[in-house]
Amino acid sequence: SVQREALLAAIENVTARIADEKEYLTDLDSAIGDADHGANLNRGFQAVLKKVEEMDGADPQEIVKTVGMTLISEVGGAAGPLYGGSCMTASQELDGGITTETSIAFAEAFLEKLQDRGDARVGDKTMVDAITPAVHTYKKSIEQDDLPPLQALAKAVDAAERGVEFTVPLRASKGRASYLGWRSVGHQDPGATSTLMILEEILATAE
Ligand code: ADP
Ligand code: MG
Ligand code: MG
Repeated sequence: SVQREALLAAIENVTARIADEKEYLTDLDSAIGDADHGANLNRGFQAVLKKVEEMDGADPQEIVKTVGMTLISEVGGAAGPLYGGSCMTASQELDGGITTETSIAFAEAFLEKLQDRGDARVGDKTMVDAITPAVHTYKKSIEQDDLPPLQALAKAVDAAERGVEFTVPLRASKGRASYLGWRSVGHQDPGATSTLMILEEILATAE
C-alpha cells in the first residue's frame, strides 16, 4: 500500500541518518554520558530496517509496533525502552491507518508513555525537551491554526530544534548526565539531538 511504502521510506531515511550521525551522537554522549548513544541507536535501527523489510503485507500499525519492539530489544540503555516502548504503545493509535487524526493521537500517546516511563519533564535535559514542543506544536498547528499536516510537521521540527538548543545550558536531572550535576551544563543532550534527527527524516520523507 501507499502508506506502507511511505513508512518504509521513512524508516530507511531515519536508519541512514542515524548511521551517518553515529559518531556525532556518541561524541555528545561521551561529554555527559557513557559514549554509546550513537552506537546504541545505530544497532537498533539497522535491526529495525531488516525486520520491516521482511514484513510483506503488514499494515502501518503492525510495522510501527515492530519498530518499537525491535528498538526495545536492540537499543538498550535508557533510550531503547523509552523510544521503543513509547513507539510500541502509541502504535495502538494507528488502528485506522495513518491519517492526520491518528498521527496526532500517535504523537500524544508517544509523549505520554515517554513521560510516564522516564519520569522526565521539560527542563530535565533529555529527549523530552525536543519531543514535548514538537508534539504540542504539531497538534496546535493542525487543530488551532488549520495548517496542513506537512506544514504542521515542519513547525514541529523547528520546535524540536529549539528544544535541542534549550538543553545546552540546562543542568541534567534525569539519566546518566544527572550524575555530573553542574558539569552537565554547556553540553547538548544526545537523546534530544537524536529525536530531532528522526523528526527531520520523517519530514524529509513526507516532503
Ligand atoms: P544510556 O544513558 O543508558 O547510555 P543512551 O546513551 O542510549 O542511554 O541514551 C541517553 C539519552 O537518553 C539521554 O541523552 C536522554 O535524552 C535520554 N534519557 C535518559 N534518561 C531519560 C529519562 N528518564 N527520560 C527521558 N529521556 C531520558
Ligand atoms: Mg549512553
Ligand atoms: Mg549506556
